[in-house]
Amino acid sequence: MAEPCAPCAFAPRAFARADSLAREEMLLAPVRWPRPRRLAEPLRAPTPKAAEGLRALGLNSVGELLEHLPRDSREARTVAELRVGEQATVAVEVRSIAARSVRRRGMRPLVEAWVVDETGGMRAVFFNQPWLVEKYPPGTRLVLHGKAGERGSFGVAHHAVGCDVGMAQGAGEQEQSGAVVAHYPAAEGVSSTQLLTLVRGARGALADVVEPLPAAVRATESLPDRASALSALHFPGGPDDAEAGRARLAFEELLLTQLLFLRRRARRRALEGAPVLDTLPSLSARWLERALPFALTAGQRAAIGEIAGDLASPCPMQRLLMGEVGSGKTVVALWAMLRAVEHGCQAALMAPTETLAEQHFATVQRLLGGEQIACALLTGSTRAKRRADTLGKLASGELALVVGTHALIEPEVGFRSLAVAVVDEQHRFGVRQRTALEDKDPAHPHVLHMTATPIPRTLALAEHGDLDVTALRELPGGRRPIKTRIVTGERARARAYELLREQLGRGRQAYVVCPLVEEAESGAGEAGRSESDLRAATAELERLAKGELKGRRLLLLHGQMRPREKQEAMASFAAGDVDVLVATTVIEVGVDVPNATVMLVENAERFGIAQLHQLRGRVGRGEHASTCLLVGPPGARRLRALAEHDDGFRLAEIDLELRQEGELVGTRQSGLGQFRVADLPADAALLESARRWARAIVKDDPELRAPEHRLLGEALDAAFGAGALLEPIPA
Ligand code: ADP
Ligand code: MG
Repeated sequence: MAEPCAPCAFAPRAFARADSLAREEMLLAPVRWPRPRRLAEPLRAPTPKAAEGLRALGLNSVGELLEHLPRDSREARTVAELRVGEQATVAVEVRSIAARSVRRRGMRPLVEAWVVDETGGMRAVFFNQPWLVEKYPPGTRLVLHGKAGERGSFGVAHHAVGCDVGMAQGAGEQEQSGAVVAHYPAAEGVSSTQLLTLVRGARGALADVVEPLPAAVRATESLPDRASALSALHFPGGPDDAEAGRARLAFEELLLTQLLFLRRRARRRALEGAPVLDTLPSLSARWLERALPFALTAGQRAAIGEIAGDLASPCPMQRLLMGEVGSGKTVVALWAMLRAVEHGCQAALMAPTETLAEQHFATVQRLLGGEQIACALLTGSTRAKRRADTLGKLASGELALVVGTHALIEPEVGFRSLAVAVVDEQHRFGVRQRTALEDKDPAHPHVLHMTATPIPRTLALAEHGDLDVTALRELPGGRRPIKTRIVTGERARARAYELLREQLGRGRQAYVVCPLVEEAESGAGEAGRSESDLRAATAELERLAKGELKGRRLLLLHGQMRPREKQEAMASFAAGDVDVLVATTVIEVGVDVPNATVMLVENAERFGIAQLHQLRGRVGRGEHASTCLLVGPPGARRLRALAEHDDGFRLAEIDLELRQEGELVGTRQSGLGQFRVADLPADAALLESARRWARAIVKDDPELRAPEHRLLGEALDAAFGAGALLEPIPA
């Protein structure tokens, strides 16, 4: 082998050190030969019950066990530090152990052990497990999790054999204080502490863990290798270890997702099968000039410009158009659809509910003005005869435009030449449904996704990293200010109803929004929250009808009603036959009643910022001043944000900030729960750098063929399946 001659830019360096290694140092470096196959070895469970538990957790192999990451790590306490009543984990040694009979019949004897660490001793009590006397003879080192009781006792909830629990790995360091113990998601039959024991037993297998990240990425980002990261999570030596390990794995996870997004995008662009809509605008231009009763906003003009560029290319458009309700997305979408029509092609708009589809259909017809363009509505409620007629005309191409619901993606629906597909409120569709519309035409139509939820950039990357994004930030004609107030306490509530009645007295209408439909409805398992505190629409309507809103015409609207009933309720509210609509969040999207000027939201703290903003957008749609009343606790920052801001993008950013600061809004609500390790928005910075790397990697080596990218490619296949490239990301 040739001696290295000139100092080279890529001379090997010690990890996280700037100076290059001397030859002797390199020769001394440990060489690892990971054998990943060993990770596939089956996991051996200590007991049949534990085996069941492991299966329930999906842990069948050693590798899977090592990927079962601790939820958090508990700092192990010393015996001396324990305080009565405190839940804690301690690492101790058994000095003596004995069973003690219990007087009450039917109870198995307690086992009491005198256990010590270097700070002191305590009496550990194990319930119902007499066999532990044999299992844990004096001298056994144990990890105990439980609760400290009176007079030096400790009630053990979980226990496992352990030796050098979380101790710093430094030679001979016996310092126990501050040791950190991993805490695992457990299952029936296998406790966190048992998992810890198993992981400890599998520690050697960490040497077989493969490193998918290219060295350049790891070195630049100062990331530990994969095995070290896993080790830091499972066996933290100090309080910061687990987080460093987690961040490393989170980066990898985000990088893989971004690689998938960008590669998929590259593939799609390469398809080049989309209809090229590039002739001079005729119908669409005429429409903009003559049929539209208003001038476009600057945002709409910019969006149309971008979309025009997309449509003129054979690469199928995949663009996300974000803009609050009322920002004029439909106008932009209709323009794109007309662009298809003037090229002799067809266009479809799919909405998630019948109500929305009907509204879109009405809007489209109104916006089309005098233009003679065949347009149909297709929903689940479309009568058989009309449906058959519509399907026939879509297949023949006679129908240029169609607006509908999921009914559009049923197998019987076929197009002659679908060039533009618009998916409204795209997050409300499953991925399969979204792509089903595109698949209606073998030539890959251009797709415009729309959402009324403004998403800050980083989050858009995480969720829609394969889409181009356009935002409509302004509302046409500016914003009609909606006064937003937080209502706390009974007196404020009474005043709120007064205001509501006063508006009704002037002929206006109102919404009352409740978080639940029925009183008994479970609140998705939130602990410590009494459900009776939550207002349910059905009961609230009855209460209001007898109380504060006696004599007013009230009507119920919720998602569990039949579509027909919902439509009727909406229609009578829109017609002014009803004063107050008592509803759940079904009114969130697509309801437009300009005469409604008050909205009262019960348990507003239960809703996220975006949702409240969306709800609030149901009022302030006419010429009258409007008010939104948020019933909730004082000082809730989310509610205050709404009271202070009316710009949806600004609110989305505040939402992000609050979540970064840890104000807990369940991921359920934020829709960002799809990552195993990464935690957004907290990991926004990691996401940005993952995106940068992914872009660089895909640019130079889109198929990940270079030797340094091979393992990354394998990790990608392992994470998403080899066929994932052309499939939508499972959201
Ligand atoms: P979105 O789909 O974003 O909720 P729409 O496209 O339905 O918004 O537009 C909301 C309302 O504003 C519609 O009645 C529409 O006709 C009107 N509108 C759209 N663009 C403009 C504009 N540039 N100027 C005035 N009104 C507009
Ligand atoms: Mg709309």
